[in-house]
Amino acid sequence: MTSNANLHDATERARSGDAAWQDDVRQGVRHVRDLARLPLSPAERTAAEIAATRHKVRIPKTYLDLIDWNDPADPIRAQVIPSPDELVESEGELDDPIADHEFSPVPRLTHRHADRVLLFPTYQCAVYCRFCFRKETLTSIGRGYSREALEPAFAYIEAHPEIREVILTGGDPLSLPDKALAEIRGRIEAIAHVRLLRIHTRVPVALPSRITAGLVRSLQGRLMVSVVTHFNHAREITDATEQACRTLRQGGFVLLNQSVLLKGVNDTVEALEELCRELMYRLGVKPYYLHHGDLARGMAHRRTTIAEGQALAAALRQRLSGICNPVYVLDLPDGGGKVPIGPGYVEGRDGEAWRIRGQDGAVRVYREVVGAPFSQYKY
Ligand SMILES: *Cc1c(COP(=O)(O)O)cnc(C)c1O
Ligand code: SF4
Repeated sequence: MTSNANLHDATERARSGDAAWQDDVRQGVRHVRDLARLPLSPAERTAAEIAATRHKVRIPKTYLDLIDWNDPADPIRAQVIPSPDELVESEGELDDPIADHEFSPVPRLTHRHADRVLLFPTYQCAVYCRFCFRKETLTSIGRGYSREALEPAFAYIEAHPEIREVILTGGDPLSLPDKALAEIRGRIEAIAHVRLLRIHTRVPVALPSRITAGLVRSLQGRLMVSVVTHFNHAREITDATEQACRTLRQGGFVLLNQSVLLKGVNDTVEALEELCRELMYRLGVKPYYLHHGDLARGMAHRRTTIAEGQALAAALRQRLSGICNPVYVLDLPDGGGKVPIGPGYVEGRDGEAWRIRGQDGAVRVYREVVGAPFSQYKY
């Protein structure tokens, strides 16, 4: 085969790869009116009309096809189909549940921890999740990507040598075209003190066909790249998502997952255990965080209590290996950052004797033995 033919083949493949995900988007739900062809209840239909004015409705076909319409409590349906419960706002819920705006020195960037920043290249997503903690930002701003819009953020990163990780989030960064991703990656890798590019995305879950060879190439360069996916239920793990994750792993990216604890979706030990195992064993994706439900508006019906979350985290710790086990965290609303809120194992201490609860529930005494190193003495 001549190199020309190879090139031609590659172009063909890239084209058909792009055609696949574009069909997936086109044949999915793109507007609230597309919900008309789905078997929703009358209450869901009315709720959807109202809810969609506040938080867009968008569901790619492959994700839509995972819904079991015979099950009103289907965990996929619960994540993307607007529910009448969403219209009920509770006291204490917030527009900006994790204080992104308070820590934003320039547009499209949040800097709360010295060594890492969030960068928002777009406020659009391939799928809109009903529980989204940034939904007010997405709805009120709705801005897409432009190179100029990010310039102040790039200048800020350049001027702050303590920044080592740039986290693309949004919106969903992988909803952008390859060209835009390559442009952003190129701009960031030109800043010498940046070491890691992180991409927080729900595309491998909801639009796995978008993970093409072209997309992978657009992210490859000088930087270590970590793709942080957002699977919430084992039912989201399919041949298509497996293929997408394999493509990303073979591209050389480190894969992690963050889940949100959602009542009626994944708030049982069995659901979380299966999710975490399948993430690691089938997809090669390390469970990173299990987030307690944020104070996003209209989401009281999906939030568990912290005590329920702790009981689940304790059970997971007993059942799962360390590598399969995520850290249960709460993102404090006033900008206190993500704090582990899993069960405590230290029951108390008496000098050097610590009383520590084992994974079997029994409390043991651990006596500290600490001596000065020899090198401290002259001999
Ligand atoms: C979540 C978050 C990060 C990333 O935190 P890690 O614990 O490193 O995953 C960074 N900055 C902000 C503002 C965040 O909300
Ligand atoms: S993909 Fe992420 S940012 Fe977009 S709606 Fe879902 S949770 Fe929100």
